[in-house]
Amino acid sequence: MNARKFFKSFEPYEWETSSLEIALKTGLNVEQIIRFDTNASPVIPTNWLSNLSSKLEDVKINDYPDTSYLSLRKALSKYVNIDYNRIIVTNGADEGLDIIVKSFIDEGTNAVLSSPTYSYYKVITQIAGGNIISIPRKENFLDDEEKLVKAAKKEDTRIIFLCSPNNPTGNSTKKETIIRLLEESDNLVVVDEAYSEFSGINNIDLTDKYDNLAVIRTFSKAFCLAGARVGYIISSRKTIDILNKVRPPNSVTSISLSLAEYGISDIEKVKDNIRSIIKERDKCKSYLEKISGVKVYPSETNFLLVEFDSFSVEQLYKLLLKRGLIVRNLSHTPGLEKCLRFNIRLPYQNEILLSTISEILNHSTKYI
Ligand code: PMP
Repeated sequence: MNARKFFKSFEPYEWETSSLEIALKTGLNVEQIIRFDTNASPVIPTNWLSNLSSKLEDVKINDYPDTSYLSLRKALSKYVNIDYNRIIVTNGADEGLDIIVKSFIDEGTNAVLSSPTYSYYKVITQIAGGNIISIPRKENFLDDEEKLVKAAKKEDTRIIFLCSPNNPTGNSTKKETIIRLLEESDNLVVVDEAYSEFSGINNIDLTDKYDNLAVIRTFSKAFCLAGARVGYIISSRKTIDILNKVRPPNSVTSISLSLAEYGISDIEKVKDNIRSIIKERDKCKSYLEKISGVKVYPSETNFLLVEFDSFSVEQLYKLLLKRGLIVRNLSHTPGLEKCLRFNIRLPYQNEILLSTISEILNHSTKYI
């Protein structure tokens, strides 16, 4: 049996360890594990689940879903104010990214990104046989616009990935930078807006004018539906036609489609959740900023990037893990060696995390 040769030098996506595995390793109960590492929502949308359960017997689970996902695309069309023919529904944003890479990357061509960023872009580009041109961010994690434009204009470049707001740095790409990239090269600019509901900024309007822009969205963050696996792509008719050549026919389940529609029809609840997360995020930030040797970066998302100057993050990560508190350890990410990332959860859970960090750092500010 011979797998592809390129696996010899390939670093796959680093999966988050399952809660069950962590429980086994730490000797804790799985219920004691609190995940701050997935950037998902702490809220279970029980109303949408009970709506679904009351209609469960009518779900035509014997049949394939409507392959065009028309009903959800029509609902999305109202939510984002874009013609439904310019929307593709996908199995999470990740599948949207996969479809884009399969459609645009030929062996030996390039995808450009601003590093550090969401690591999946690199993984899928390499699997497709492409190369990554990684442009390091400048101070305050701003995009290096000049270098991005230069790389975008290279003959073998096909895609420019911009994550806005960016995971893991929490800041957005300037609209002017996106427009410049769209105008100065004919290559596809992908703006991943997985967290844009938290920033309140989006670039969907630009898809009216620029054929070469694809905006990626998800129900996994602000819509509290990470387990349902629903995402979508907004682009021009021209780009959507290309992507539809590659899109798998039945990758989104009937049940997930219904949950996403319940989400859209209950948008006030979604907005309430967003407001609570932002309020909690700002509270957590001010708490941490009082601790000396701790730097909290500005965040336009549902997570915080925190730098620890006088304590090993590797050690802090392990000590938190032992207590069942899982955060993202970024000590292996160039430029973020002293950083941890954690997503905001319910107030009592944030309190447990912050007071534990404070206790480990031997600091005693109260979380209130
Ligand atoms: N883009 C970014 C920037 C993300 O952080 C994530 C979640 N890890 C995704 C896409 C994938 O989202 P989904 O759950 O919709 O596949």
